[in-house]
Amino acid sequence: MKEASALDVASMMLYAQKVFIVPGYGMAVAQAQHKVWEMAELLEQAGVEVKFAIHPVAGRMPGHMNVLLAEAGVPYDKIFDLEEINAEFPQADVALVIGANDVVNPVARTDKSSPIYGMPILNADHAHNVICIKRGKGAGYSGIENALFYSENTRMLYGSAQQAIAEVIANVKQMSG
Ligand code: NAP
Repeated sequence: MKEASALDVASMMLYAQKVFIVPGYGMAVAQAQHKVWEMAELLEQAGVEVKFAIHPVAGRMPGHMNVLLAEAGVPYDKIFDLEEINAEFPQADVALVIGANDVVNPVARTDKSSPIYGMPILNADHAHNVICIKRGKGAGYSGIENALFYSENTRMLYGSAQQAIAEVIANVKQMSG
């Protein structure tokens, strides 16, 4: 797994045209939704298009991500369901995966022996670059490895989501002056 710094992540996103944010259970645990929206607004002010991509079973209850993003004030027109956004991932310069794991695990497409085989996933791996924020090597709900984290175009930003996003925000602010 290849690591990135908060500075690397800030610059990748500031120089992007399109950034898709994929939140998961870890964003809920860290209560990072307010920081995530603050970051998204800064990127938008810098001219980056930001969209939120929501998997139907992300988190631990139906609508979990939608509730958190609404609480943080994310406008509904920036929030997209899997069927609405999945075909657009190849046009995203960056997919920023925040505390999500199973819902972006490509093994669901290919490995018949996997417990998540057949589950539709968000096609984060089709973005030009993937950044995954999580604390370490922890598995998701299903307990399995995620090939996305080992992919050539993936970088890991390690940390609890709220702290990691705060560090990205500090770098975005510094770079965008
Ligand atoms: P997930 O597969 O459970 O993965 C969550 C990831 O978040 C973990 O790998 C963990 O890695 C990371 N994490 C935990 N605390 C964190 C923190 N403070 N900061 C940053 N990252 C943190 O999550 P998901 O992708 O949202 O998938 C949901 C899963 O739950 C699916 O398998 C789904 O079927 C299942 N489920 C959903 C529902 C529902 O109704 N939504 C109900 C029951 C079950 P680290 O430990 O390395 O940080």
